[in-house]
Amino acid sequence: MGGGFGGLQAVRRLRRLSVEITLIDRRNFHLFQPLVYQVATGALSPGEIASPLRGIFARDENVRVLLGEVSGFDLSARHVLVDRLPNGAGARAIPYDSLIVAGGSSYSYFGHDEWRRFAPDVKSLESALEVRRRILTAFEAAEVEADDARRSGWLTFVVVGAGPTGVELAGQIAEIARDTLRRDFRSIDTRAARIVLVETADRVLPQFPPRLSRRATQSLEGLGVTPLVGRTVIGIDEASVTIDGERLPVRTVVWAAGVVASELAAALAAESGAELDRAGRVAVGPDLTLPGHPEVIALGDMVQVQDAGGKPVPLPGLAPVAMQQGRYAASAIRERIGGRQPPPFRYRDKGNLATIGRAKAVADIKGLQLSGLVAWLTWLFVHLFYLIGLQNRLLVFIRWTFSFVTRGRGARLIAGQAGTELHNRGGGSLGGDVRSMPEQGEEHESGAG
Ligand SMILES: Cc1cc2nc3c(=O)[nH]c(=O)nc-3n(C[C@H](O)[C@H](O)[C@H](O)COP(=O)(O)OP(=O)(O)OC[C@H]3O[C@@H](n4cnc5c(N)ncnc54)[C@H](O)[C@@H]3O)c2cc1C
Repeated sequence: MGGGFGGLQAVRRLRRLSVEITLIDRRNFHLFQPLVYQVATGALSPGEIASPLRGIFARDENVRVLLGEVSGFDLSARHVLVDRLPNGAGARAIPYDSLIVAGGSSYSYFGHDEWRRFAPDVKSLESALEVRRRILTAFEAAEVEADDARRSGWLTFVVVGAGPTGVELAGQIAEIARDTLRRDFRSIDTRAARIVLVETADRVLPQFPPRLSRRATQSLEGLGVTPLVGRTVIGIDEASVTIDGERLPVRTVVWAAGVVASELAAALAAESGAELDRAGRVAVGPDLTLPGHPEVIALGDMVQVQDAGGKPVPLPGLAPVAMQQGRYAASAIRERIGGRQPPPFRYRDKGNLATIGRAKAVADIKGLQLSGLVAWLTWLFVHLFYLIGLQNRLLVFIRWTFSFVTRGRGARLIAGQAGTELHNRGGGSLGGDVRSMPEQGEEHESGAG
């Protein structure tokens, strides 16, 4: 269950065995989440970072892809309940011998779900397109705004959370304002845009060594981003953000903070009696199985792995963790079929990467701390390498090369607004669109690699 990083790897490994596989996802595509923010900033188009699941497994006769939403589990009867089937039929029970659950995570608004409509995230394609619409619309609104104070609100952008996604996003918005749009407007100077990056921790990229955080801060400041560290957002509405009691007029806010596990983690915990941690992740054993259910493996962003003594094993919420666990799950099933006990899962840490802008990135690879051009090239290579599909790799490579040479962004389209509804935030159908997105309410963020 789940065609994200973990689920996809599991199926890729399993398909070579003599087994029947059903892959269930409520999306018909695998999404390369680390590049979703580039869709939000017009650098890439949605199709370039997503691959249809049916296409990926078209040649694997033993893989069946099912479009639908998993709504529950019956672990004693060994079936998965699948709802929202595309034909509108009621929920269907899908039986299994072995179950792998990789439902991912979502951004948490720290108990302020009402902020979601004012500050969308960049987790799903839908929300990324909404963010792109808001960013580009803000410049358009500033162009026709006569009032200085209101114009300044349109030209202010706040990114909440200075993990890799927040840093990458803030850097990209700054590049849009400084480079991409510089010559496009007649009434405004887009370079006057203010980009504020708010982080509760005392430095940006808190999961990186302090030296790389300092480098990232310098790069961000060089791009015109104002990092506000050690500061907390306590309010967001249609026209402002309140940071530690200080109200900042702003029309475009993007959320990149906090993670909560898919609600499927709670469903598995309720069925199996497994613990849930504060981030809503279900506890699994060293072999990623649920207590008392050696046939059920849960993995990726939605789990907390415990060692044989029940102590949590700290693992980052990153794609490589989910991918390695997906591959492990396939070999564990193979071992079980052969009547053998799989060895415990072990994570091989390949390091952390974050890009900030053109030729600016930081990398922490097995104690080797890199920044600047070398880190940036590493980042480019790693992301191209892990992108699914040769066509997407080529397209993204060409796009990046063009952008690097021209400082342009090909996908600067304001799509999705109806008639006069060009407003950036708040009520009406736009707020509704954002809240009704299927990804909302369950699914993360983080580093790289
Ligand atoms: C914006 C962003 C940037 C990131 N950048 C990086 C990065 O640079 N480097 C890095 O290593 N990691 C990064 N991550 C983290 C990485 O994407 C996750 O750690 C990884 O996706 C986790 O894999 P997963 O398989 O657990 O979940 P996912 O990849 O999220 O997959 C979950 C799948 O389950 C499906 N699903 C969920 N619920 C249901 C349901 N009820 N029914 C049916 N299907 C369902 C979803 O549609 C999805 O396909 C980033 C994450 C985000 C959000």
